Amino acid sequence: MKKTKLVVIGGDAAGMSAASKVRREQPDFEIIVFEKSEYTSYSACGIPYFISGKVEELDELIVRSPTQFIEKYNIQAKTLHEVLEVDTDQNRILVCNRKDKTQFWESYDALLIATGGKAFCPEVKNHTANGIFGIQTLTSGSKVDTFLKKHQPKSAVIIGGGYIGLEMAEALILRGMKVTIVDRAPEVMSTLDPDMGKKVHEALENLGVEIFNSESLDHFEEKDGLVSAVVTDKQTIKTNLVILGMGTAPNTSFLINSNIELSEKKAIKVNDKQQTNVKNVWSAGDCAETLHLVSNKPFYIALGTVANKTGLVAGTNIAGGDLKFPGVVATAVCKICVHEIARTGLLEKECVDLKIDFVSTIIKSKTRAHYYPEAKDIFVKLIAEKGTGKLLGGQIIGEEGAAKRIDVLATALTYKLTLQNIIDLDLSYAPPFSPVWDPVQTAARKLIGMI
Ligand SMILES: Cc1cc2nc3c(=O)[nH]c(=O)nc-3n(C[C@H](O)[C@H](O)[C@H](O)COP(=O)(O)OP(=O)(O)OC[C@H]3O[C@@H](n4cnc5c(N)ncnc54)[C@H](O)[C@@H]3O)c2cc1C
Repeated sequence: MKKTKLVVIGGDAAGMSAASKVRREQPDFEIIVFEKSEYTSYSACGIPYFISGKVEELDELIVRSPTQFIEKYNIQAKTLHEVLEVDTDQNRILVCNRKDKTQFWESYDALLIATGGKAFCPEVKNHTANGIFGIQTLTSGSKVDTFLKKHQPKSAVIIGGGYIGLEMAEALILRGMKVTIVDRAPEVMSTLDPDMGKKVHEALENLGVEIFNSESLDHFEEKDGLVSAVVTDKQTIKTNLVILGMGTAPNTSFLINSNIELSEKKAIKVNDKQQTNVKNVWSAGDCAETLHLVSNKPFYIALGTVANKTGLVAGTNIAGGDLKFPGVVATAVCKICVHEIARTGLLEKECVDLKIDFVSTIIKSKTRAHYYPEAKDIFVKLIAEKGTGKLLGGQIIGEEGAAKRIDVLATALTYKLTLQNIIDLDLSYAPPFSPVWDPVQTAARKLIGMI
């Protein structure tokens, strides 16, 4: 009997989670993965820590190599193979072997598209100059490290003050560089409300980071093939290293002429089983759209957590199982030096756009009992629906021990809990870990008086 053939495009978190799951469930499937870079199954999230030197070798970020995939799992992972086109009428894809530049068509019975996202880069003058890097794949991390060793720049400009920009700022500070952040938004970390973003701004300035908000990139200057300056709508900043942290866009341009339905943001539309609109074509990870469980609207978010989970769901269903991915509440954490930043749910601005009547508050508490050594400040912001007290969103900034408290709020959002439900939670306490009222409950107690 002919074996069912699964073809996966993209060999990282989502693609390899799915391929591995299919292998566990279906030992007889033929599984081929096409990956355009030279790496499979790596941690892009670890790139800033490799750049900073906390992780010494790039190889430490690789979970499984193509050799391990074939030897242990009988999955053929073909690296340096880029998929150029998907022909869903004839169930085949056009592949380019980047080593010898040859092209060939590969047929499939089931296709999973897991091509992730790409760092957004506007096509402004000199945007291809050497020294300008978007951080997305392990290859990009390796290129930045090689550039730093070769050119030893003293300063860097990061365009975009989101979490990748901030993590890269930490990495470059730890490498002894002067860091400037340029962001067109009025405050850094636009995934937070501006009042919480301001606290991140202050923390960054205390670390010596120079920040220019409400300032947009116009173009780059280039000298002898190397970037020499960032030109904004307000000034020219001399630098030989630029990191792009302007957001992630779904990597789907090769699908433009296919029958696969894309969203306005060009993410692949999927149902809760990760199926696209085309039979036997699935998608997962940063190239796919998902559902926001608080707004109940389609949503695009590029995170490793979501990529691994949607990959598992896609793999289960491709293998004949029945699993659903419910959606996300947009939970994310990041760290810059000693400062931890976390967010989940809706921002105030999103509540306004959705015409939800809300109340919000920010409280300042401590990460441990006030008398316990190393107790640090922690700020918790909660947003809740006026009248019902249903939690809508939460943001946390503080030092060690602050960020992971967001998981309590993410759980509350997932299960549509109210402020009273949060106050009622039997959360843990001992002086080294928290005050007797955990800061998230202190915030809920304050906000409940305002609903
Ligand atoms: C610097 C950085 C830090 C991050 N930190 C965090 C974090 O702390 N927490 C978190 O949750 N998330 C984090 N993320 C996001 C996380 O890494 C991604 O969400 C996750 O890697 C997405 O997995 P994916 O498999 O969907 O896509 P990717 O990891 O992008 O993998 C897609 C793969 O497809 C390949 N590909 C693309 N197009 C083609 C094609 N046409 N043909 C063949 N192959 C193709 C690419 O080369 C790539 O290897 C971070 C990302 C970066 C860049």
